[in-house]
Formats: sequence, structure tokens, C-alpha cells
Amino acid sequence: MSDADRSVQTAGRDGVDDEARRIARARLPEGLRPETLAVRTALAPSQHGENSEALFLTSGYVQPDAETSARRFAASEDFTYSRTSNPTVRSFEARLAAMEGTEACVATSTGMSAILLMIMGLLKAGDHVICSRSVFGSTINLFAKEFGKFGVETSFVSQTDLNEWRAALKPSTRLLFAETPTNPLTEVCDIAALADIAHGAGALLAVDNSFCSPALQRPASLGADLVMHSGTKYLDGQGRVMAGSLCGPDKLIKDVFGPVVRTAGMTLSPFNAWVVLKGLETLSLRMKAHSENALAVARWLEARPEVARVFYPGLASHPQHALAMRQQHGQGGAVVSFELRGRHGQSGPDAARAAAFHLIDSTRVLSVATNLGDTKSIITHPATTSHGRLSEAQREAAGIGQGLVRLAVGLEHVDDITDDLLRGLSTLNNA
Ligand SMILES: *Cc1c(COP(=O)(O)O)cnc(C)c1O
Repeated sequence: MSDADRSVQTAGRDGVDDEARRIARARLPEGLRPETLAVRTALAPSQHGENSEALFLTSGYVQPDAETSARRFAASEDFTYSRTSNPTVRSFEARLAAMEGTEACVATSTGMSAILLMIMGLLKAGDHVICSRSVFGSTINLFAKEFGKFGVETSFVSQTDLNEWRAALKPSTRLLFAETPTNPLTEVCDIAALADIAHGAGALLAVDNSFCSPALQRPASLGADLVMHSGTKYLDGQGRVMAGSLCGPDKLIKDVFGPVVRTAGMTLSPFNAWVVLKGLETLSLRMKAHSENALAVARWLEARPEVARVFYPGLASHPQHALAMRQQHGQGGAVVSFELRGRHGQSGPDAARAAAFHLIDSTRVLSVATNLGDTKSIITHPATTSHGRLSEAQREAAGIGQGLVRLAVGLEHVDDITDDLLRGLSTLNNA
């Protein structure tokens, strides 16, 4: 044996006491604030004492002996195979649960697979769901189309009119599903009121918290039973990886959703979990900066003569401004939409679309893309992208006109964002 080999083995033996001490130190005291939990919550470090959580890229785990292996497989605990569990993924789950204020969390490969997991775990043929009609388009398709064919029935109701939610209740209603604020019109629903409606009917409330993240809004503290995330958005926050999650009580996450993930395999990859785990450390700083930038851009747009209307929860002109400020810790989030007047004051969809395309094509800094939740500001034309498959009449009903432009405001200097918008706005009527 070489000296190098021996020194590695010696370190391993002497490391036992050290490791016990490190694990004890990794137990955090009670009462830490969300910003601290976002930086500190994780599994205990390995015997090497790394200060930044390790990335465990492994599909399997070596067991000390057959007896232990049998026990671990039977109990579905500890680490046996990475479809079931992985230390990096588990650190991400622990950290996000701590930030959302829920007992547990299960990570998934994307936001959509978190909703897939939720439906597979909770619902069966004959069950009924009530969902806002303003939620993410793929969410509507997953409930109505994909699970409609398995006999799960979904009623779509107004984002803001609680009476529609109450009127849609049936004896078979198992789940209410909401997203707030919505994309692209930033409509806000009252989470606490929806939780009361759900619980009064013996149903659960699940909230898609992708737009606000726990830095702004903690749905579980307002009565929601489940909190869903597209981690692809602000949890990562830098446009790098796909990820998703469901947070909630132990009895649902461990007993209902855990077995479904283990069998169906909508598992988050360890690499993506590590990226998002690191993203969580700066989440509250980023969301504050996104919100400040977005509010400044929204106010600037509201003062422009070319702009007919601005949709942003942080503006006093927003119909649910007071509710949003209460529910979102006084911050509006990063997404701002606005309606342009047509070129040369012309009305009608064609003039409105020409104005929107001119504005988008005049930008030199913003990214023309449909994503959001990035440090880079993104500009989108919803009527021809995210809502492009709707008929003109359906779009009108949803309030998505041809003159509507959506911004997912990033972390560039705010003056560079408004300067970039000015390139198009100031030349709108030149052509
Ligand atoms: C992006 C998004 C989703 C879907 O998440 P993916 O990670 O793309 O699967 C769901 N809900 C909202 C609000 C989103 O923005």
C-alpha cells in the first residue's frame, strides 16, 4: 500500500468522532428566519466537511451488508437508488420545505411533473377539481385533457370571483387549484379565502407559487395544503435548469406522493437539484431586486402616452393591489404586462399587433423568449406565443389582446431596461 492510500484510510478511521460532531453541529437551532434557513438548511456534510453542499452524482449506493440492504429497501428510507432518493435532492427538499414553512417537500423533474404527481397521488376517476381558468396553459391541458380522459372532471372558474368557486363545489370535489399572480395579467386570488372554501367542503387547496416564490408569499401560512413550484423559474432564477416540487404535510408528501414518485419516476436529477439548492441561497435578495426593478418599470410604463394600461400588482391601479401587498409581503414580483395603443392611434387587433411587434423588435438588451424567472429580462407577445393556440374570441375573453406585451423583469440596471423599451415606444408612430 502506498503512503497516499494509507493516509486516506487513516483519515477515514479517525474521522468517526469528527463526523459525529459535524452532524451534531448540522442540527440547526429552532426559530431561524427564512433567509437563514435558505442558506443553512441541508443534510449534514460528508466526512470531508464541505461547506458548500456536495453534488452526489450517483445512481446507486453501496450497502454495508445484505441485512442493512434488505432493511433499507423494505423501509424505503436511507439511500438505495437515486430514483427513490439522493442526498443532494434531499437537501434541496429540506431547504425548500423550511422556506415554505411546510413539514416536507418532494422534488420533481419539472413544474409540470409536480402537478402530474399531485393529480396521480390525490385523484381517481369520478373525482372533481376546481381550478382558476387563468392558470398556466399546460396546467389547464393536464387537468382537462390528459386527466379528463381518465375520468377526472375539472371545472374552470374566475381567478378573482370567490362565488364562482363556491358555486362549482360538488360532493365529489377533492381539490381546488390556484396560481397567483397569474400569467400574463397578474390577477391575484385570495389564498386564505380559497383555503376556507376548500376545507369547508372537505377538499384540499393547492397553490402554484412559481411567480412569487417563498421569498414573497408562503401559501401554507395562509391555509393552503400543498404548494407547487416550477423550480425552473425563480428558485433557480438564472435560467439554467428545469426543476419542480410539491411542499406540504408529512402525511401527504411521505405517504401519498413518495410512493408515486418512487414508482413513476418523475425524479429531479441530482445536478439540477444542486443548481436550484444554490439558487435558494440568494432567492430573497433576487426577488427583492426583481420586484424593485419591476415596480420602477411598471411606473415608467404607466406614464408613457403609447401605453393604454399596465398590469402589475405593485401598482395602486391594480384591482387587487391591497390583497397582493398583504399576501406578497409588500412586493409585486417580477412580471409586468402592458397594453399598447395601436400605431397612429388606430384601433383593432392588427394595429395593436403591429405596435407590439415593433416594440419587441426594437429591443437590443431584452431577450425575446417565452420563459421567465431569469436574471435576464424577457419580453413576450402572449397572443402569438403562450396563448397562440386560442381563438381570437377565447383570447378576448381571457383579456389577452394583440397589443399586450409581457415583461419578466430581470436584474439589469433598471434604466437600461426602460431605455431599451423606449427605443420602440418613441418610434412607434414614425413608420
Ligand atoms: C413554468 C410554469 C409551470 C411549468 O413548469 P415547468 O418547470 O416548465 O414544467 C407551471 N406553473 C407556472 C406558473 C409556470 O410559470
